[in-house]
Amino acid sequence: MAKKYYELLGVSEDASQKEIKKAYRKKAKKYHPDSNSETADEEKFKKINKAYDILSDEDKRRKYDQFGEQGVEGHAGRGQRRAASSFQDLFEHLFGGGRRQRESLDLKIHTTISLEEAYQGVEKTFEVSRKTSCEDCNGTGGEGGETSTCSECGGRGKVRTVKRTPLGRAETVERCSNCNGKGSVPEKNCGSCNGKGVVESEEKITVDIPEGIRDGQRVRLKDKGNRSETGRNGDLYVYVTVEDHKELERKKSDLFTTVTIGVGDAALGTTISVPRPGSELNVDIPEGTQPGQVLRLDGQGMPSRRGYGDLYVKIDVEIPEDLTEEQKEFMEEFRGVPETDKGFFETVKDLIK
Ligand SMILES: [Zn+2]
Ligand SMILES: [Zn+2]
Repeated sequence: MAKKYYELLGVSEDASQKEIKKAYRKKAKKYHPDSNSETADEEKFKKINKAYDILSDEDKRRKYDQFGEQGVEGHAGRGQRRAASSFQDLFEHLFGGGRRQRESLDLKIHTTISLEEAYQGVEKTFEVSRKTSCEDCNGTGGEGGETSTCSECGGRGKVRTVKRTPLGRAETVERCSNCNGKGSVPEKNCGSCNGKGVVESEEKITVDIPEGIRDGQRVRLKDKGNRSETGRNGDLYVYVTVEDHKELERKKSDLFTTVTIGVGDAALGTTISVPRPGSELNVDIPEGTQPGQVLRLDGQGMPSRRGYGDLYVKIDVEIPEDLTEEQKEFMEEFRGVPETDKGFFETVKDLIK
């Protein structure tokens, strides 16, 4: 059977490159869609170009001669070939990666936790949609798990190819496309996964969010992402937002809060209750505490890898606005007391007695 591409160009199967070129020019001119002649035929013109693309390239021609159109399938058309720079081609040949981009198998989910949960660490469970290994075929893609060794790669999953590049011959090892790198192919496609070896599944996944986690950090669960048909597993990333606390502000592992006390408590000292994540702490305020004074409570902050941060308590002193008659009297008295050797606090104490 005469080969189609030779027929299209009207040359014999042993035609020289010179003959092929000559024939192509003649035909191209005849069918060129812009030629305005009666013979203009875009479809035919495209076919002729395709034929010339294959036959003008000795490598492709050889494959075409051996395997027919299937042997040269997947080759880009001439125009596209020209567009790709030889540098890009060279890189592909040298590194074997090709322009094929690696699809990301990683999954991302998001959760919001409270500061209390961030302080203690928390366990969260998520319903995750992910591609997993098909249980019915054990991820092989073959019905009942039955597979046979891939004939293309002999079970290695990789194929070695030698390509000519502008810098000479380059040998590359690529993933076998016949078996997707698995080394085996299904005897009969598994009905559950269509021979892909992976299925879409819903899974409950429990994530341990460690104590001390900060807003914006993520937790990685290795291999809990999608599974590819080639048997690789992506990871699952849980992005964590830590909610603002109504009384505590966090900076790294330190916490900050403000507690308001009365004038008398500031002057005489008292015990106050200071908020912490999930609890409270009783703290002694010494006499003579000034408005705006900051107490540092060692190790009462958030946990971190280097231990606990500190809790800083700023003391606000409230000056009363509406005094009762009694309080006013007291304040008047207080205002009238001269500075004595007893000092301020002793004087106040005496007055209160
Ligand atoms: Zn299956
Ligand atoms: Zn293979």
